[in-house]
Amino acid sequence: MARLDSAHPDNVEGPWFVDTRCIRCDVARHWASGLIEMDNAGRSYLARQPDGPEETAALWRPAEACPSQSLGSTEIRRPPAPSFPTS
Ligand code: SF4
Repeated sequence: MARLDSAHPDNVEGPWFVDTRCIRCDVARHWASGLIEMDNAGRSYLARQPDGPEETAALWRPAEACPSQSLGSTEIRRPPAPSFPTS
């Protein structure tokens, strides 16, 4: 679970956030391009909150795959099923 007490300072305001435990694997930026950006140190931060279910799903994918569990939401704790494409 992402840690709000370690939230990246560049996150935009809102429920979704990235914490500073990000290990720069690039998964989040791949799955949620345009929502997650990279800071000068290579860590991810949330550049824009999702707008609608498709963009929300685009954040759940890296939230589930993130090796450091750095991406999460303060409002939604579980992803809508399924969050990964089934075909
Ligand atoms: S998936 Fe996690 S560790 Fe990888 S870039 Fe995104 S926030 Fe960082």
